[in-house]
Amino acid sequence: MAAQIIDGKAIAKEIRKALAEKIKVLLEQGKPRPGLAVVLVGDDPASNLYVNMKKKACKEVGIYSEEHRLPGTIRQNELLGLIDNLNSDAKIHGILVQLPLPKSLDEQEIINRIDPAKDVDGFHPINVGKLCIGEKAFIPCTPAGIMHMIDTIEYNPSGKKAVVIGRSNIVGKPMAQLLLQRNATVTLCHSKTKDLAAECRQADILVAAVGKPEMVKADWIKPGAVVIDVGINKVGTKTLGDVAFEQAKNAAGWITPVPGGVGPMTIAMLLNSTVNACESVFY
Ligand code: NDP
Repeated sequence: MAAQIIDGKAIAKEIRKALAEKIKVLLEQGKPRPGLAVVLVGDDPASNLYVNMKKKACKEVGIYSEEHRLPGTIRQNELLGLIDNLNSDAKIHGILVQLPLPKSLDEQEIINRIDPAKDVDGFHPINVGKLCIGEKAFIPCTPAGIMHMIDTIEYNPSGKKAVVIGRSNIVGKPMAQLLLQRNATVTLCHSKTKDLAAECRQADILVAAVGKPEMVKADWIKPGAVVIDVGINKVGTKTLGDVAFEQAKNAAGWITPVPGGVGPMTIAMLLNSTVNACESVFY
């Protein structure tokens, strides 16, 4: 039987609708309008596209947003200075530095400079640490969106075997933490994993965050598994995931498409975190 498709686009639309209503109520109560600053350094086309999508989404729900587009030649100190200004700007509740930054910049130092209370991406070590010890914190938007999708299909990870492929700080590691918090038994795989296919075949929940088009084959999937495809791979004019979707959908129980799966959820979670930042939910 073909898998049920987890429609991230539709779920994200519901989240945006609820946020728009929430913001309307906040403003009626005399509360400030949530504000997001997006910092983009250099001219990477993919980053440029993501920033435009985030700006459009902010506008749609009523979040104030401002962009800081900076040349790739910007110096570390200038960028740190901008972060300091945004940290003390009362109309800005969330700060997002679009990654990756050019190699000439020290990315971690920039992230460390963001006020943890405005770190809507959840990349600051304080938020990373809080996530690891199970305290409320800003959580990276992609894994947060994935957990929301798993909840939407009413799948309980407790006691299930979860396999996450990819150990980036942005997706893989926080994803593993979130699944662990929900009592899944988690295996975190990476490029040095010995027999990736065998690991995947045991997974009730399989999250692929690698960046290799259609790497995960149908016969790697345990029948009935929840398959979450994070990958965004441009191949010619097509956008492909990390999972060979057409074949995999006959093996999985649930599967996310690319595009229209994890991507829209990531943006919806960013909006949600910005509203939480404005309401000082975690700090
Ligand atoms: P990274 O490049 O930071 O990490 C990739 C991970 O995959 C690494 O841990 C790497 O292992 C692992 N890997 C690479 N090759 C293999 C292999 N052959 N077998 C097993 N593991 C392997 O990527 P990101 O986590 O940032 O992103 C992953 C994908 O998700 C990309 O396609 C990206 O575009 C997409 N993405 C999508 C988002 C969305 O909103 N939909 C948001 C963020 C990312 P090692 O650590 O050993 O090198």
